[in-house]
Amino acid sequence: MSNKILVGVDLGGTTIKLAFISMQGDIIEKWEIPTNKKDNTIVVDIAQTISQKAEEIGISFSQLGGIGMGAPGPVELETGLVYSAVNLGWENYPLKEELEKVTGLRAIIDNDANIAALGEMWKGAGNEARDLICVTLGTGVGGGIIANGEIIHGTLGAGGEIGHITSIPDGGAPCNCGKTGCLETIASATGIVRIAVEYIQQSEVDTPLTEKYKESGVISAKDVFDFAREGDEIGQKVIDTMAFHLGLAIANLANGTNPEKIVIGGGVSKGADVFLHKVKEFFVKFAFPTVAKGAEIKVATLGNDAGVIGGAWLVKTKLLEI
Ligand code: ZN
Repeated sequence: MSNKILVGVDLGGTTIKLAFISMQGDIIEKWEIPTNKKDNTIVVDIAQTISQKAEEIGISFSQLGGIGMGAPGPVELETGLVYSAVNLGWENYPLKEELEKVTGLRAIIDNDANIAALGEMWKGAGNEARDLICVTLGTGVGGGIIANGEIIHGTLGAGGEIGHITSIPDGGAPCNCGKTGCLETIASATGIVRIAVEYIQQSEVDTPLTEKYKESGVISAKDVFDFAREGDEIGQKVIDTMAFHLGLAIANLANGTNPEKIVIGGGVSKGADVFLHKVKEFFVKFAFPTVAKGAEIKVATLGNDAGVIGGAWLVKTKLLEI
């Protein structure tokens, strides 16, 4: 059993990331293929690329220990049913069953944000903490909550939907989920830009950030971080708003689980040097003192590899070691 090779798969709307990973969590080989949504050949494509790659690098089929995969939507863990993946046009899709049938390997499916959290727990910033909250700040805000080493799924698989914590109870911006004022409308890349534009339009003074926006008509979250880093007043105001709401949300969440580590990942975490110290300040201010004392807030370290490594962790712990 100890020499089995774990297959991690991270299914996204545009690419499918795959990796062969050792039982120690080291990546042996990683690659990606495009997601073919149009013909829905996703499962067949995955099966083909796994056997091709295995042959190419001299791994025999019998060495493969199983597939651990993240899907972009809520999942029923026991059956591997994807309740809905809007991006892929899936509704109650039996992903585990299909994948096992086509590949001949055992499979385990979880939500993509959850497997990223497991990856960070195992080999990343989580440092094997058994109580951990992972927040992924990208175009949206995703998350995974791990309590006593296990991901919290909840009754309909929607546990850990950190992005949809209500930050602005009245008059907030509309969210993709149908509510308004969600954390996602503030702390995602999209949210940061939205707030920046709002502040720029309200501002009576010009700063380098407002000038950049007025000249080009567009700004990115990276612009906001870059200008804030140089001391731009509006940029810093945007960071203050984002850090306040993120710190408040994770403090409230942490009061429920008393985590050892809080890991912040996703593309937006590239600006952590500008916002993380502020998030920490607000976190300490709003968390129950013992909770604040026990939690360390860290930036994710695995980047795009978190998902495939978390998938491999599921194979190791849920399929092989039981
Ligand atoms: Zn929402």
